[in-house]
Amino acid sequence: MDDNVYFCCEYARSSIGSCKACPKAISKNAVKIGFTPDFDHCGTIWFHFSCFFKKCFFRKQLKDDTETSSVFVGFQDLKDTDQQRIRKAHEKLVVALTTGKPEVKKGKRTADDDESEWKPHTKKPKTATHSEKELTVGKHTYQIQDFLYINISRWRVIVLVGIREYYRTAAGGKLRPGKKGISLTVDQYRTLINERLSISKAIEQIKEDKEGKDAIKKKKTKQTKKDKQVAAKTDFDISENRRVIVKSEFVSGSQQVVVDIREYSTAEQSGEIPLPTDKGVTLTEEQWNKLLSLHLTVIRDLADNFGYSEDFADELSS
Ligand SMILES: [Zn+2]
Repeated sequence: MDDNVYFCCEYARSSIGSCKACPKAISKNAVKIGFTPDFDHCGTIWFHFSCFFKKCFFRKQLKDDTETSSVFVGFQDLKDTDQQRIRKAHEKLVVALTTGKPEVKKGKRTADDDESEWKPHTKKPKTATHSEKELTVGKHTYQIQDFLYINISRWRVIVLVGIREYYRTAAGGKLRPGKKGISLTVDQYRTLINERLSISKAIEQIKEDKEGKDAIKKKKTKQTKKDKQVAAKTDFDISENRRVIVKSEFVSGSQQVVVDIREYSTAEQSGEIPLPTDKGVTLTEEQWNKLLSLHLTVIRDLADNFGYSEDFADELSS
C-alpha cells in the first residue's frame, strides 16, 4: 500500500470513537493521534496518544520528519502542555528508531501491555474453496464475487433485485442471504444500470486524481485546487432516498475506488441532513464490473420468470 500518510491530532469530541490498536474507547477531550492516507477521500484512523507512539505501523515515517509542529495537522490547536507531550514522545521515537533501541521501557508487565504493532491488513480475501463453489444458492441467484450475490425475489407484489452478502449456515453448508446488502426495486435497479457510463467516468476520474496526487507527492510540491479538472459527477440518485456514491475508500489495506449503493435517512428521521443507513452495499471496481456483466442474465430472468418481458424487450433483442 501507499505508505506515505499524513498525521493529525486533536481532542476527541466524544467518547464514541475507539482506538485502532487496543481497541478501547478514546475518552472525550483526550488527545488522540491518527493518520489518514488521503485527505480528500478518506477518514482518519485514530489511536490513543500512547498507542500511536507504541503501536501504529506508520510511526516509523516520523523518523525523517522531525519538526513536530508541522508533521501533525492540528498541533497548533492543542494546549501547550499537550504540544509538549507530543514533542517529547516524537523525540523519543526518533531516537529509538535511529539507534534501534526499543521504544518502550520494559517495566512491570500488565494485562494491557500488549505490544503487538497495529498494521493495516494486506491479506487478500479468501478465495472460495472447491466445496464453496459447488454450493447451491437457489434459483434466480447470481454470484458477483465470493459470498456476494445478486438475487431476484418477489416480496408480496413487489419484485426485488437484491445485491447482498450471503452466509453459510453452520449445519448443512447452505448459503443464505445475510443482512448486509440492499434490495432494489426493478425501477431502482434499472436506474442504477442506466447510470453505468457516468459511474464508470466517475471511477476513472477518481483513479486519475489519485495518480496525479501520488506524482505530486513525489515531487514534493503542493497541488492547488486550480489544477483540478472539472469534476465529473460522483453521486447519483436512484430513488428519493437511495443513492449511489463513487468514492475512494481505505479498503483492506489499500486505497480503492468503490461504488456505494445505499439508502439514506429521510428528513423526518434525521432533520435536514440525510444520513447513510446500514441498508447498502459497497462494491469494489471489480465487483461493480461483474455486476454489469450479469445485467443481461438478470433481465432475461426478470423477463422470463417475473413478467418483465415487455419492459426489457429492447435490451434483450439488441
Ligand atoms: Zn489504544
